[in-house]
Order: sequence, then structure tokens, then C-alpha cells
Amino acid sequence: MFPSKPGLTLLALAVAVLASACASTPTGRSQVMLVGDREMNAMGIEAFSQLKQESRVSGNTRQQRYVRCIADALIAELPAEWQELPWEIEVFQDDAANAFALPGGKVGVNTGMLQLADSADQLAAVVGHELAHVMYRHGAERFSQQILAQTGLTVAAVAANMQAPENAQLIMGALGAGAQVGVLLPFSRKHETEADLEGQRLMARAGFDPAQSVALWQRMQDQGGARAPTFLSTHPNPGGRIQALERELAISRPLYQQARAAGRVPGCRP
Ligand SMILES: [Zn+2]
Repeated sequence: MFPSKPGLTLLALAVAVLASACASTPTGRSQVMLVGDREMNAMGIEAFSQLKQESRVSGNTRQQRYVRCIADALIAELPAEWQELPWEIEVFQDDAANAFALPGGKVGVNTGMLQLADSADQLAAVVGHELAHVMYRHGAERFSQQILAQTGLTVAAVAANMQAPENAQLIMGALGAGAQVGVLLPFSRKHETEADLEGQRLMARAGFDPAQSVALWQRMQDQGGARAPTFLSTHPNPGGRIQALERELAISRPLYQQARAAGRVPGCRP
């Protein structure tokens, strides 16, 4: 049986919507994107303000200065359009070793991650990884995939009613801040690899030693078992990532040497 005429029209419409909703990452991988930057940024900013109300923001100004110093050095190396976001960096009082970055330029680092990362270079690997998730629009891609998987939901309905607990969970989960609100949703391997490698190049361009990204992952792996960092449950497959990060050093190390030769020495102290 052939589809009736209205059926065909609907099909054509659906194809047109999906085609217009395709985007691509900085490295050229195509992405399904049902939501634009403006909506996504608004959701990220709203989610961050909810998190700040629900979680304890660290009052330790030294910690805040340290994390901001690292984030500022990294943000300065982002492409110009990403530098323009109203970036805000907060330290959350939470022993779980975790960090996240939301569309709209909101970054959170837990005090537990400050304990785990041994140096400014290691913390730069974490923050660089999170900034890369934002720059690759991974949150919007994951959010789009979840909307497509859940019939009956529309982006507009979810965005308009963020206060509803199920919508808040959907958004936080997609944005990678799920661990803060008890939704542990692992990123896909594809996203993680992109964030790892872009994050390493970013830290190198800012003058942080890219080899420390490998050291950080080894530290996380060593703290496995019951005390495993939360970052590991949302960022799986440490062994494979360490190998990929080691290979990428062939590209990142020369970027680091150029940055240092150009006088980019971040000098962030805990
Ligand atoms: Zn990640």
C-alpha cells in the first residue's frame, strides 16, 4: 500500500525538519540538533541557577580564585564566538570528585575534584574537557536525542516548564550536570573522546602541560572501587581514554611548547 497524500506531506515535512536540524562539530561530525543555541543557553543558565540554590557554593575565596584562574586561561583560547559567553565559574562544596559545564557558559567544579587533581595542570584537564563538551554542543545533541526518543515531548514544552521535576532531570541529565541532582547519565564514548582530545589541545594552547591529562586519568583509575570518583561513573572506560590521550600528545605537546615560548604561563596557585 502506498501512503495517502497527507501521509506523504507529513513525511516530507518531517524530513525537512530533521534536515534543517542537522549541525556539525568543530571537527566536522554531523549532529542532530532540535534546539538552537539561544534556547539551549537559556536552559543552561536556568539549570545553573537551580543548582546554586540546591547545592552549597563554596565560600572559600582562595579556591574560587584558583579555579577561575584556570578557567580564564582556558576560555581565552576558545574560538572567539565561545569567548563571548557570559562565563561564570563556581566551586561547589561536595566531596564527589566531579565537574561540569553548561551551555550559556556556566562551569561548576566540586571541592572533591580539587582534592583529586594534583596540580593546576590536572585541574585544567578537567575544566578543558568540560569546556570542550560545551563547544561541541554535546548537551544540545544529547537533549535532542532524548526528545526524539520520548514521543510526545517537544523542546518548547520542556524548556517552558523547567521547574517540573521530570523536565529538570531531563535537562540536567542531558547537560551533564545530572550527577549533582542524582541522575547519573554517562556520556557516549564518541562525546567523551571528542571532549578528551579537544580539552587536551585547549589546555596545551593555554600553557598547561597536556601530559598531565594522562596523569589525572591514572589517578582516577587508581582510586577505583567503592571510593571511585563520581566523574568515572559518568565518564566511563578509563583505560581506552588514557591510550587515546597518550596518542594525542603528538599534537598537543608542540602546541604546549609554542604556548610557553609565546609566554603563556598560567601561574594559577591553589
Ligand atoms: Zn565528559
